Amino acid sequence: MDTVKYLLPDVDLPANWYNLAADLSGPLPPVLHPGTGEPIGPEDLAPLFPMALIEQEVSTERWIPIPEEVRQILLQWRCTPLYRARRLEKALNTPAKIYYKYEGVSPSGSHKPNTAVAQAYYNREAGIKKITTETGAGQWGSSLALACQMFDLECLVYMVKVSFNQKPYRRAFMETFGATCIPSPSDTTAAGKAILEKDPDCTGSLGIAISEAVEVAAQNADTSYCLGSVLNHVLLHQTVIGQECLAQLEMAGDYPDVIVGCTGGGSNFAGIAFPFIGRKLRGERDVRVVAVEPSACPTLTKGRYAYDFGDTAHLTPLVKMHTLGSTFVPPGFHSGGLRYHGMAPMVSHVLASGLCEARSFNQLECFAAGTQFAKAEGILPAPEATHAVVGAIREAERCREEGRAETILFNLCGHGHFDMQAYMDYNAGKLRDYDYPEGEIAMALAGLPVHGNS
Ligand SMILES: *Cc1c(COP(=O)(O)O)cnc(C)c1O
Repeated sequence: MDTVKYLLPDVDLPANWYNLAADLSGPLPPVLHPGTGEPIGPEDLAPLFPMALIEQEVSTERWIPIPEEVRQILLQWRCTPLYRARRLEKALNTPAKIYYKYEGVSPSGSHKPNTAVAQAYYNREAGIKKITTETGAGQWGSSLALACQMFDLECLVYMVKVSFNQKPYRRAFMETFGATCIPSPSDTTAAGKAILEKDPDCTGSLGIAISEAVEVAAQNADTSYCLGSVLNHVLLHQTVIGQECLAQLEMAGDYPDVIVGCTGGGSNFAGIAFPFIGRKLRGERDVRVVAVEPSACPTLTKGRYAYDFGDTAHLTPLVKMHTLGSTFVPPGFHSGGLRYHGMAPMVSHVLASGLCEARSFNQLECFAAGTQFAKAEGILPAPEATHAVVGAIREAERCREEGRAETILFNLCGHGHFDMQAYMDYNAGKLRDYDYPEGEIAMALAGLPVHGNS
C-alpha cells in the first residue's frame, strides 16, 4: 500500500516580512487626528509605539527583514505544519483538495506570537520597560505575556470581562509568565470608571479594553502599548504564514484556487492571504480570497466603510475601516477574538477594492463545522478558527455541487484547548445563535465621527 501523506514538507522560515502596501495601486486612506481631522504624522504615535514599529506602519517597502533575534525565537515552532485534510475531504465527498495551515503549534496555541515576539523585541530595543495591552479571548494576552517574559519587559493585560470569567485558565497562563491581568472595564483607569458608572454590569469589549490599555501607556514614558491585530505592522508580522504556505504548496506542486481565513481584526487572515494577493496584484497568479466573520459581529458584511475610532473612549486616531461603530458592544458569543467593532484598514481596503469576499456565519454552524473537523482531522479548533473551517467546508460543498476539483487553503489559526467550556456548552445543547443586533449597530453607527466622513 502507498504511504498516504498528510503533512507537507517543511520549508525555511522567511527572511523577510511581506508588505502588501508595496503592491497596492495607491496609498491607503490617511490616518486622521480626531481633533483636527488632519492626517497624523509618525511623531503623533510616538507616545504609544517605538519608532521602528511606526516606520513599519507607514512603510511601502515590499520586503522588510525579520531581525535575527526574532527569527531565532520563531524558529522554535516555525515553519508550522501545512496539512492535507484527507479525511475531511472524504467525509465531505468533495472532489476539492483541502489544505490547512496549523498555527496552533505555537507556545500559546495561535498565530499571535508571530507578532508578539516582534513587538516585544522592538520595544526592548527602544528601552521600553513595560507594555500594556488588551485581550479578548486571552490568546493575545497569553502571547504577549510570553514574549514580554523573553525580553524582560513588564506586561499589563486588560482582559474583556466576559472572557475573563469564561476562561480562568487563560489568566493563569498569563500570570505564569509574570504578567498582570485585570478584567475590563476596571476601576484602574478613567475610561474604565466612566463605563462602569454608566453600566456597572458591563461585560466589556475589545474597544473598552483598548481604551484602558492606551490610557495607561500614554501616561507613562517608560510604557508602550501593543495591539494584537488591526494595525499594518501586525498584519505584516503575520505574513510568515502565507509565505510558508506558498513555499510548502510549491514543493507539493499545488496552488490554491481559494483561500479562507477568519477575521476578528484581520491579522491571521492577512497573514495567510496577503502574500497570495500580492502575487495576484503583480500579475503572477489569480486567487479567490474569502474572509469569514460571526453573524453577531458582522464588521465586513454589514459594517460601514468609514472613518472611526479604534476604541470606545475615543483615545485613538481615526482610521478608515469597516466598522459597526466604536461604541458597539457585541453580544457575548464564544469567539472572543472576533468581537471587535472594526477591521484592519488594510483588510477593509482589500475588500473595498474587490480583492476579497466576505461571509458571515452563526455560532451554531461554526461549532458544528468545528466538531466535524475535529472528528475528521483530530485537531480541535479554537472557536474563532471554526469560522474559517465552516467557510472552507462551504467551498468544498460548492465544489462537490459544481463537480470542480479546486484547491482550498484555510488558516487553522489556533487550537481550542482553552475553550472547552464553549465545546461543553455546545455539546450540551446550551449554545444559541444571537440575532444580528441591528438596533445597537444602527445606534453606534449614528455616532461615527464627523472628520473624514462628511
Ligand atoms: C486573536 C485571534 C483571532 C482574531 O484576530 P485576527 O487578528 O483577526 O486574526 C482569530 N483566531 C484566533 C485563534 C485568535 O487568537
